[in-house]
Amino acid sequence: LEPKEEFSHKTLAMDVMRPRRSDPPLSVITQDGMSVEEIETLIADTSYSGFPVVVSHESQRLVGFVLRRDLIISIENARQRQEGVVSTSRIFFTEYTPPQPPNFPPPLKLRGIMDLSPFTVTDHTAMDIVVDIFRKLGLRQCLVTHNGRLLGIITKKDILKHMAQIANRDPDSILFN
Ligand code: ADP
Repeated sequence: LEPKEEFSHKTLAMDVMRPRRSDPPLSVITQDGMSVEEIETLIADTSYSGFPVVVSHESQRLVGFVLRRDLIISIENARQRQEGVVSTSRIFFTEYTPPQPPNFPPPLKLRGIMDLSPFTVTDHTAMDIVVDIFRKLGLRQCLVTHNGRLLGIITKKDILKHMAQIANRDPDSILFN
C-alpha cells in the first residue's frame, strides 16, 4: 500500500468492507456448538482466508478471528490423532468447555488457534485512517463493527481494488462529465 495513493476523506470503512449489500452474509463461526462437519462444510463451500468467531449469530459479538489454514490443520490432526473426534464432535472456541452429555463424541477445543484480538474499526472510520493502520501494522484484514456488532471485513486486496477503482474513475468523471 503506497502512502501516496490517498483516499478522499469521504470514503468510510462501510464503503469498502464486504459483504456488499447484494452479497451473501459474512461467513462466521459461532464460539460453541458448531460440529466438525459444519465447519468442514464451511471450509469446503468458501475460499476465504479466515473467519470471524462470534458469540452467537443473534448477537454478532466478536470473539476472535481464525485462519482457514489453521482450522484445516487442526481438524485434520484431531481426526487422525485425537481419540474419538468425529464429524458430530462439537468445536469450542470458549475458555471453558461444558461437560458433554453422555454418548456425545469428545469435543474439539480450538481456542488456541484463534486470534483473540483481531484488529477492528467501526463502519464510520475514514478509509485514510484504515489504510494508515494497515500500513503501520502490516495487517492482512481488519474487521468492521457497528455498536459492538460485527458488520464486515476489509482485506488488503479490498483496499487495493477500491484504490484502483478510484484511480480509474476519477479521470473520466473530470474529463467527460
Ligand atoms: P483476499 O481479499 O486477499 O482475496 P479473502 O480470500 O480472505 O482475501 O477474501 C476474499 C473476499 O471475501 C474479500 O473481498 C473479503 O473482504 C471477503 N471475505 C473475507 N473473509 C470473509 C468472510 N469470512 N465472509 C465473507 N466475506 C469474506
